[in-house]
Amino acid sequence: MTQSSQDQHVAVLAFPLGCHPWPLLNLACKLACAAPNVRFSFFNTPKSNSKLFSTSQAEPPQNLKAYDVADGVPEGHVFTPGNPVEELELFLNAAPESFRNGMDMAVAETGREISCLLTDAFLVFASEMALDMHAKWVPFWVPAPHSLSAHMYSDLIYETYTNVCGGGEDGINTSDGDNYGTGTLGGIKPIDKTLDVIPGLSIMRFRDLPQQLLLGDFNSSLFSSALYRIGAVLPQASAVIMNSFQELNPATLTDDLKSKFQNLLYVGFLTLTLPPPPPPPSHSDATGCLPWLDDQKPTSVAYISFGTVSAVPPHEFVALAEALEASHVPFLWSLRDNFKEILPTGFLQRTRTQGKIVPWAPQAHVLAHKAVGVYVTHCGYNSVFESVVGEVPMICRPILGDNMFNGRMVEDVWGIGVGVEGGVFTKNGMLKSLEVVLGEEHGKRMREKIRDIKDLVVKAAGPTGIASKDFNTLVEVISK
Ligand code: UDP
Repeated sequence: MTQSSQDQHVAVLAFPLGCHPWPLLNLACKLACAAPNVRFSFFNTPKSNSKLFSTSQAEPPQNLKAYDVADGVPEGHVFTPGNPVEELELFLNAAPESFRNGMDMAVAETGREISCLLTDAFLVFASEMALDMHAKWVPFWVPAPHSLSAHMYSDLIYETYTNVCGGGEDGINTSDGDNYGTGTLGGIKPIDKTLDVIPGLSIMRFRDLPQQLLLGDFNSSLFSSALYRIGAVLPQASAVIMNSFQELNPATLTDDLKSKFQNLLYVGFLTLTLPPPPPPPSHSDATGCLPWLDDQKPTSVAYISFGTVSAVPPHEFVALAEALEASHVPFLWSLRDNFKEILPTGFLQRTRTQGKIVPWAPQAHVLAHKAVGVYVTHCGYNSVFESVVGEVPMICRPILGDNMFNGRMVEDVWGIGVGVEGGVFTKNGMLKSLEVVLGEEHGKRMREKIRDIKDLVVKAAGPTGIASKDFNTLVEVISK
């Protein structure tokens, strides 16, 4: 018997770390509005849900309910300082059971069996879970599409890199945790070789890959083995959803991914409203960022944020702070409270009229404010496009995951930002970068180029764009 949309119940399983829950919740809300007869149950850990719902712009519709699920942290557990993966590993270890318990509760409450698992693509165990439950599995890929491609080809990348490096002799130097090869290959360092072996990635270099792919680290943690399994499990999904616009990505990359998956659907950026709406009234911003920006001159402010999870080493925080102070550039810094103690002694006091530091900023609105002239960024995928839509050029300090890919696009392909000198913050390097991006000549040119990319994004988000068609297909997939 075929089920009607009246019977459908979509379980939305969030990956509670980094920015991941925000675009997933936005997608779930958008789907719930488009399919009002379908029930949506959104599962996430208590800590992540609390942050998500206190900062999200999304208003969950009536047919979507959020549930807290266990985070896997044993009672009384004391986290080891400086080990951010501990929380992730505890969560992943408990996740299948936590989500199952949550779903049982939602099924009992609604009287509807789960018909579809819409999950973060990092939750690869959902593939088997969906099979067991006779439900569809629809994974959602939040980072850059380029990085999905890299994970699909992790074996080939490792083999190629190992061959190029002569069995690792000239390979990456792991002693200082960086991504840099030390050998040469006909004058080219292995890390500077482009990824011609992967369709659609020929613009990227080995150095732009996440380190675990070069190291062949496919099993040292639950997270690394989950990333490794992506290549095997995603082709089983009913559809794979991309947090991106197809029009922004190379056709070869899309064609290759399409050849691997049953249905590859680009639904657009889920952290941005397009076309950009008028700015909200500044007084409604409880963080005080927008009123503070109102008092600054146009394109004068440096906004600094490394996203929801990344951080640079302490000496780089210090160098960045010293450069900001010496430059006299007004700055707005989204800095988590636990990093404030790293700042140079007296910095907060000395810069209290020059800058503003907040633990969380309404970033998309900040970047859309006319006072912001440069974004000092880790090149997270969502952040980069929020900057594009805000027409703000970037100073790039990529840190992890897809950041290096995004930095490569921003600096070398689109020319809408500069990398920090030597890849790390130093006081002098940062002073130079600020001068370049805020300066008349380069800054103006970058802003012109950004407007071209923004036009492409706004067009792709319009009624004739692929995202609108792909979103309708997704609504069909989850409603039947
Ligand atoms: N963000 C925000 N305020 C902050 C810091 C981050 O709103 O103070 C949002 C930002 O707008 C973006 C997301 O968090 O949508 C970060 O996502 P991204 O993909 O750029 O980086 P990640 O956090 O995954 O490294």
